[in-house]
Amino acid sequence: MLDHRFGRAMPEGDTVARLARSLDARLRDSVLLHTDFRVPAHATADLTGWQVHEVAARGKHLLMRVVDPSGERRLTIHSHLRMDGSWRVYAEPSGVPAARGRAHTRAGVRAVLRTDGFAVVGEDISELRLLPTREEHTLLSRLGPDPLHPDYNRDEVLRRLRARPDALLGTSLLDQSVMAGIGNVLRCEVLFLCGIHPRRTVADTPDADAVVDAAAELLRTTAALPWRVTTGDARRGRDLWVYGRQRQPCRRCGAGIVRSTSGAGSPGAHDSERIVFFCPGCQR
Ligand SMILES: [Zn+2]
Repeated sequence: MLDHRFGRAMPEGDTVARLARSLDARLRDSVLLHTDFRVPAHATADLTGWQVHEVAARGKHLLMRVVDPSGERRLTIHSHLRMDGSWRVYAEPSGVPAARGRAHTRAGVRAVLRTDGFAVVGEDISELRLLPTREEHTLLSRLGPDPLHPDYNRDEVLRRLRARPDALLGTSLLDQSVMAGIGNVLRCEVLFLCGIHPRRTVADTPDADAVVDAAAELLRTTAALPWRVTTGDARRGRDLWVYGRQRQPCRRCGAGIVRSTSGAGSPGAHDSERIVFFCPGCQR
């Protein structure tokens, strides 16, 4: 979850997809030997004996789907990582809770799930809940189409985008109800790649469709990589075009990258999303 340069950046759809893949690989079909939920609403929940069906991502939401021993009840452990949340996996060979004295007792721990061999620890997660899997849609109904999902509906994204023609295009890209998964890093990077100035509105961008497609493609590309790289050069310090690079020369034209805080976030967005990085030479 740790991002570089700009302190901790919010996990985006690619980060959460990567996390879901990693957790799914370790947990799928595993039986939970012990669970501990340290949130008031679920403090007494006990999923001991339940089996992990799968771990999936939808936008920035992580969904761990579990089924009870009879196979009749299905629950989803839903989490949203927001700014600082993480799920970490600790190897526990022979079932000895090796990390108990350290990570598991931290004040920020919100959940511990033990399987034969692993402890999965959720830390600093502001949003964590259990709900019947069939009710997942109540949490996700406001999310726009997710380019990482097989049912991704491009036309629906464009419809939602054009419903607010006066919005800044960059703001709409961040709006999870338009398209799910894009956070501030990918927003800044895709505006650069498309040569779009961050003050351009949807209506002012004749090729907004192409920007949407580029955003979806960038999300798919970075989700498939071990970490986020937009330039094609994975070396540290060369992996991004503009994000976190204020006053450094543009990799294309040499102009100084600008960091601006001019209201480029979506309503209710975290302050870090109001910050946009762009190249005044390449983005008109
Ligand atoms: Zn430039």
